Amino acid sequence: MALIVQKFGGSSVADATGLARVAERIAATHRAGNQVVAVVSAMGDTTDDLLDLAAQVTPRPPAREMDILLTAGERISMSLLAMAIDARGVPVRSYTGQQAGVLTDTTYGKAQIVKLAPERIVQSLDDGQVAIVAGFQGVNEANDVTTLGRGGSDTTAVALAAALKADVCEIYTDVDGVFTADPRVVSSARRIAEITPEETLELASHGAKILHLRAVEFARRYSVPLHVRSSFSHKEGTWVRQPTKEDPMEEPVIAGIAHDASQGKITVQGVPDRPGVAARLFQVCASVGANVDTIVQNVSVDSQRTDISFTLSTQEAEATMHALRDAQDDLGYQDLIYTEAIGILSLVGAGMRTHTGISSTLFGALYEEGINIHMISTSEIRISVVVDIDELQRAVRAVHSAFDLDASETEAVVYGGTGR
Ligand code: ADP
Ligand code: ASP
Ligand code: MG
Repeated sequence: MALIVQKFGGSSVADATGLARVAERIAATHRAGNQVVAVVSAMGDTTDDLLDLAAQVTPRPPAREMDILLTAGERISMSLLAMAIDARGVPVRSYTGQQAGVLTDTTYGKAQIVKLAPERIVQSLDDGQVAIVAGFQGVNEANDVTTLGRGGSDTTAVALAAALKADVCEIYTDVDGVFTADPRVVSSARRIAEITPEETLELASHGAKILHLRAVEFARRYSVPLHVRSSFSHKEGTWVRQPTKEDPMEEPVIAGIAHDASQGKITVQGVPDRPGVAARLFQVCASVGANVDTIVQNVSVDSQRTDISFTLSTQEAEATMHALRDAQDDLGYQDLIYTEAIGILSLVGAGMRTHTGISSTLFGALYEEGINIHMISTSEIRISVVVDIDELQRAVRAVHSAFDLDASETEAVVYGGTGR
């Protein structure tokens, strides 16, 4: 008997038919003699719809109320799913994040799990029931509900799998696994059979929303094997796991390409070129919680002043621009420019450590497409380039072909979802 945590994303439970299909799958896993914990997301685009609704009520909804609102989405799907499983004669109970013992810090909208106390889930399993858990939510020490950030149901699932010492955590979604690029952008993208957690982390943190970043971090830290697969097919998906000596993985040079259209760029012009100014500048960004990514500092021509550009989430741009404007006298810069129309392409592969010529192939492919690069940043296993937003998808397709990642036979299938 295995203990299996299964997570079903919003597109898998978008309507009653989807709920029935998922219920059937969970029931079959249970009937096969396994213990099952199923983590479920809100139906379809419910979370986006709730966000839109709140925006119509007020431009600045209080964060606490926002989290109470958003957690309602997963409560709807968890209870309906439990009803659908019950109707199939399988004993089942659904639990909110709070009931499942998901304890978080107090950062509404982006809470981190600090502890898991899943006694009720363990009890359910001991009683022979399937346990359904609402994803994406927890409770803080003040007993208020919190959410884990967009896409956070993955993290609920992996954290529970780690705490319950599950044999596997299956992430069911609307594509057949992790592909060499987003199948919505590159129809010739290839499914990756096995990928390391570190490569998956780089993809997830650079825009590939197939897995929530913190879910991958949990999986790596607690060695939880992840199987990312479609809830619409029975095909084998992608295994995210650490290779072992006995069972090494065949590692390609390039694992895949991520793209991110949700970042903007701030350029601070005419910054005094002296020690300590960059530190102060980024302190200002940090003070409003901005997560700064790629940073480029120009060589100062007159050696008195320089320009500093950096990327950050468009959602953090307004507050950051505001804080930087307030600090103009202190920082002594001349001008501040914000550009929203940028996109970031990231090429990821552990083989970059040992292979040469990767950057020349990347830059060559973009040059041949006539695509201009605004900024470049690298890690040991990643190269990212900032391009114009209008050229991002074309850039992804060109680089995908340049590295021979295109699948030879079938097109990647997108079974559902709106890509929103
Ligand atoms: P769910 O609702 O199941 O959580 P998401 O929409 O969060 O699903 O994630 C699945 C989507 O991730 C896919 O439909 C696909 O468009 C997108 N995606 C982005 N990059 C990749 C990739 N490299 N491989 C597979 N899917 C990707
Ligand atoms: N429903 C939440 C969202 O749309 C959480 C999730 O789907 O993982 O972001
Ligand atoms: Mg998701």
